[in-house]
Order: sequence, then structure tokens, then C-alpha cells
Amino acid sequence: MTKDYADLHDPNAEYTARDLSAETMGVTAKRGGGRDIEITDVQTTMVDGNFPWTLVRVYTDAGIVGTGEAYWGAGVPELIERMTPFLVGENPLDIDRLYEHLVQKMSGEGSIEGVTVTAISGIEVALHDLAGKILELPAYQLLGGKYRDEMRVYCDCHTEAEADPEACADEAERVIEELGYDALKFDLDVPSGHEKDRANRHLRPAEIRHKAEIVEHITDRVGDRADVAFDCHWSYAAGSAKRLAAELEPYDVWWLEDPVPPENLDVQEEVTKSTRTPVVAGENRYRVTELRRLIENGGVDIVAPDMPKVGGMRETRKIADVASGRYIPVAMHNVSSPVATTAAAHVGAAVPNALAVEYHSYELGWWSDLVEESVIEDGYITVPEEPGLGVTLDMDAVAEHMVEGETLFDER
Ligand SMILES: [Mg+2]
Repeated sequence: MTKDYADLHDPNAEYTARDLSAETMGVTAKRGGGRDIEITDVQTTMVDGNFPWTLVRVYTDAGIVGTGEAYWGAGVPELIERMTPFLVGENPLDIDRLYEHLVQKMSGEGSIEGVTVTAISGIEVALHDLAGKILELPAYQLLGGKYRDEMRVYCDCHTEAEADPEACADEAERVIEELGYDALKFDLDVPSGHEKDRANRHLRPAEIRHKAEIVEHITDRVGDRADVAFDCHWSYAAGSAKRLAAELEPYDVWWLEDPVPPENLDVQEEVTKSTRTPVVAGENRYRVTELRRLIENGGVDIVAPDMPKVGGMRETRKIADVASGRYIPVAMHNVSSPVATTAAAHVGAAVPNALAVEYHSYELGWWSDLVEESVIEDGYITVPEEPGLGVTLDMDAVAEHMVEGETLFDER
């Protein structure tokens, strides 16, 4: 039988091989202990942070609400709205099945990678908050328990004089001394004044010398007070990336991030294996299926999934498990609000090989206002012991910083 497009996306459509709904799977039996709960609605509100943070709320007939967050991206709220009928009536405790259900239902619209995975990630994070609240357990407990009480946070640093090695070293010093971080990251794809043609991705010797000068100034100034990573944002040709990584070998570089474009994993592997400088990638790949290839072919020394983009909390755990099997640490890329940042800390608590989670908003001023709790203190997140994620949205702050034209989700 041929199914047309509308049928495929009708939650009431007859059984298809792609349908993992409770009704189709025969898991509709009532549950005891207050666990007989149904999802009634899913809503989103976008906040105008240094990225458009997409906050997600999943509502239930028990009056318990789960809050999550998806990585930013055009179309993410619309995709979540499109998926809402697949969730209404379902029990939110079946996190894994609901994740797979959404992946299967949205397969025709691109749930292998891209914004559909991002949208599913936001729902998945909200389901962890919701399940934790229903079961009265912190989210890390749902992922298998705790390896650590605190998650180390690294601070993504910027200075207006980004090409001035001395100004970068000054900023590193300030972030360590005034903000209390012992882990930092700086951009290395900054203009040197020696560029001839950015399209060919080639680095001239003077450009490499300039980058090495930035790295030398920062790492010399910081010494053993902090670890420092450097991000290249997929900028360089394979040969240039290898020359740059080799040039940085004498310095204490925590890692060199994304020196080459993300598409070709063979090139990524070549560059990583060419140098003693630790190389990181991963924030631009999706799901354990893609990250597995990056990890298992030796494409990274440290892997950097973005939790609310890559597939969510359980998917990040699965990636960490693959990495653990290759003795590779996980440094979670993160540009989120306190909601997904805390969710990433729960994942970090639950896996042995968590190295750090990123904080990308120190210039914003009101990042921490978005939730009632204090999230990052002295460069670490104390993993919450409250049920779910353990953070509570400050609705006044959300309303104040909403993207223009957005509607605040229901407080119920
Ligand atoms: Mg990066």
C-alpha cells in the first residue's frame, strides 16, 4: 500500500513500520505509583540571548511540566510544533521510545541530521526534566548515576582586539582572576593582516606565525592556572591545518578545535593523526551514528558533541560511551541558556569521560537571570539534586528577553 505524505504525518494514521506510538507498540497499560501520565501539549518560546535560545515545555495531564532547550536554528520551533501530535497522549516516561518514535516519524523530513534532530533534542531534554519530576529523581540518576558532583565549565573568551596577542593574554588573565575559570577557549581564526584569499583556505606562513604568537602569549601568561583551547571554526585547507597544528606543538594547548571543514571525515582523521597537538571536532555532526565514525576512525583526540543539537541527553550519553571505548574524553560544545547548560552538566555527571562543558555567554550580562538557581559558580556547575534538571525558569526574565513577536508559553 502506498502512503501519501499527509498519511505519514497523521498521528492517527493506521499502522506503518515507522510508527512506534504507544498504541502501535502495545505499551498503553496503566502504570502505578503516579506514573500513569499523558502528555497534553508541547510549547516553545525563543529567547533573544547571544543566540536565539529555543526553550521547550512539555505539559501533562498531571499538571507536571518539563522544561528543555534545543540548540538554535531556523525552523526549530516549527518542527517542534509539527511533532507535537506524535507526543500528545503518550507517557513521558518512555523517553527512549518517544525519541525513536520522533526520529522515525520525521525520517522523511530529515531526522538523520540537521534541524530536525535539533528539534527532537529539545523535546528529549524536556522529557528528562519531566520524568525526573514525576519520579522525584535528578536527571543524572535517569542516565545511570553520578561520577562527579561538579561539572567543570570552560569559558569561551573574546576581546575586541582579538588579533592582538597581548590583549588576548590580558583577557585570559582577567577571566581566570576575576571570573574564576580554570579552563578557557579563544578563537584562532582571527585576521592577521596577512590574508590574501580566504576562499582557498590556505594559510600563509605569516598567518601561522601570528596564530602561534597568540597561542604563545596566552599559554605563557596562563601557565598552569588554566587549560586553554583554540577554535578554528572549520576554516583551513588540510595542509594548512597540519602546518598550524605542528607549529603549535611546543605550547600547552588543551586542544585545537575544528581546523578543517566538517564534511570529510578522512581529512579530519589525517589532520588529527599528523600532530601531537590534541584535535577536537564534533559540534557540527549529529547523532551517535555520525559521531561514532568520527571517534572510531581516530578523527578526534577529544570529541565535542553539542548536547541539545546532537540528539539530546541520552544520545550524548551514547556518544560518550562510544568515546569511552576508545579512551577519548568528551568536551561538550555549548552555546545554550542555563537550561541546556545544566542538562549537559547532568550528562557530564553520568559519564566517566566527561572533560568539560562550554559556557559561551559571559559577555551577555543576564545569562544567569533566566533561571532562579545559580548555575555556574567559580567555573563549575554543582550538579543539581532537585528532581529533573533542577532549574526553574524565571518567567519575568523569559518575558523580558523573548525574541520579538514570540508568545510566552503557559505557566501552568
Ligand atoms: Mg567551536
